[in-house]
Amino acid sequence: MRNARAAKPVIESSPDSTLFERIGSFLAEHGLSPDPAHYAFAFAVLSAPTGPLAKTVSRLTAHGVRLRAHDIERLAGRVADDPPTVRKRRAATSDANTDTADALVIETQQQVDDFAQMMRTMQAETAGFGRDLARSAASITQMAEIDEITRITSSMIARIHDSEVRLAEATAETDALRAKLAEARDTARRDVLTGLPNRRAFEEAFAGRDPGAGPYCLAVCDIDRFKHVNDLHGHGVGDRVLIAIGQAMATECAPHLVVRHGGEEFAVLLSGVSLSHAAELLDTVRQTVAQKRYRNRETDTALGTITFSAGITAIHADEPAETAFERADRLLYTAKERGRDQVCAA
Ligand code: GH3
Ligand code: MG
Ligand code: MG
Repeated sequence: MRNARAAKPVIESSPDSTLFERIGSFLAEHGLSPDPAHYAFAFAVLSAPTGPLAKTVSRLTAHGVRLRAHDIERLAGRVADDPPTVRKRRAATSDANTDTADALVIETQQQVDDFAQMMRTMQAETAGFGRDLARSAASITQMAEIDEITRITSSMIARIHDSEVRLAEATAETDALRAKLAEARDTARRDVLTGLPNRRAFEEAFAGRDPGAGPYCLAVCDIDRFKHVNDLHGHGVGDRVLIAIGQAMATECAPHLVVRHGGEEFAVLLSGVSLSHAAELLDTVRQTVAQKRYRNRETDTALGTITFSAGITAIHADEPAETAFERADRLLYTAKERGRDQVCAA
């Protein structure tokens, strides 16, 4: 279906032209490269225009449908290593960094377009089949010749089989599409560097708080003197420290939600715990992180102690995220002023 663009019926395209020219037209109509494998397939089709292969190709390409790589392989042909119509999209996707949500969304959009085209083709096929069925029923009652009935029945069975194959492809395509959409959804809510949920995921979790889950608290945590880590050891090492601290926080705070809120700042949304319990938990996490020893593996030098400060506050019912955030941020500022490596709660 991704090749389903208007293509003229193959066998009838140029009755007066030479076989060589017709092979050229065949390849062009189906977007196939002039590769020996494609050339051999086209030759097999066009050199025996009334043979079974040519008939099957004619049937498959009725209603202006292009041959697909899958069709060629099913008909015992071989698909060239780099057929342009099929490969182009995959190459473009990997070039554009498949990690990004944008690339996934673009690819998903292409799949939706392809899927819509496939369904249109199937509708046309079904409509044509209905018409043929009516005509065939009339022929059967008029002629009642056994050969004719056998021919009509075989043709119907072949067309039903083709429709089934297309339907199976449509279903597989839909499943792939759903998986891509789920992946795109997840990518859009994840921080690329640390792999933690991001600010968007936090905002959704904040907005979707469960009133029956008990009190909620918000902590804003900021790594102390992080600029020194970058200045002394380089940005790459700084990145690895961010990843390690983010993962340690997520593990220590589980099952509460830890997100990278930006830069060297993490936010924690704690549910079902009072402010005093949440502050105790955060202080334990702070001590655990401070006890870890990091090394620069390129120079094998110790990075020294890395700590964070945090401000933590109880979230009031119905208050917007910004208000709770401002309060936690002010408490974080107090923790920094008081000497860092501490949790300030209110
Ligand atoms: P403070 O204790 O007051 O928070 O000091 P600080 O040095 O941590 O704070 P400051 O705001 O002066 O510097 C934050 C640094 O974090 C500067 C910035 O380059 C660094 N940073 C932010 N995001 C990243 C990142 O993704 N990777 C790396 N390596 N550094 C980052
Ligand atoms: Mg900061
Ligand atoms: Mg900082």
